[in-house]
Amino acid sequence: MDTEGGEIPLSFADYSNNNVKFVISRIGKSTTYVHERINEGSKIFFRGPLGRSFTIYQGRRCLLVGGGYGLASLYYLAKTLVMNGCYVKTLLGFKDPRDVFYVEEFKKISEVYVIASG
Ligand SMILES: Cc1cc2nc3c(=O)[nH]c(=O)nc-3n(C[C@H](O)[C@H](O)[C@H](O)COP(=O)(O)OP(=O)(O)OC[C@H]3O[C@@H](n4cnc5c(N)ncnc54)[C@H](O)[C@@H]3O)c2cc1C
Repeated sequence: MDTEGGEIPLSFADYSNNNVKFVISRIGKSTTYVHERINEGSKIFFRGPLGRSFTIYQGRRCLLVGGGYGLASLYYLAKTLVMNGCYVKTLLGFKDPRDVFYVEEFKKISEVYVIASG
């Protein structure tokens, strides 16, 4: 197996029909490798899931707050809460307006507030 791309932490952004979705920002060596060399049918090594999972509360209204790449993992959480009947607001923060991503997807399922300083 090709290990040239290295190993990096990534969050699940979405999951449906046995497909996991990642949103990957091109930053350095490994993420550039993914952008340039990983295509449909490529084999990758996967370790995980790691870290602590979210608790899904049964509340009627939820506010999710996240920033930068941390947003990726909030999307599937927001989707799950909406499916459970929760009204979701998301507060999404970015270092720079040029870093803004995935806001349109969040808008489809939640009331969105964006803070992008810079
Ligand atoms: C829990 C967790 C979840 C994450 N989830 C996601 C996610 O869902 N999506 C996502 O896109 N990212 C996510 N990240 C961030 C992601 O892991 C990093 O962007 C990735 O590890 C960067 O690896 P790289 O090899 O591409 O960058 P590296 O090559 O390691 O570069 C890292 C930084 O160093 C700089 N750099 C590299 N080489 C040089 C050099 N020679 N001189 C000066 N500066 C240099 C780069 O510009 C960059 O800023 C997550 C991180 C964590 C911890």
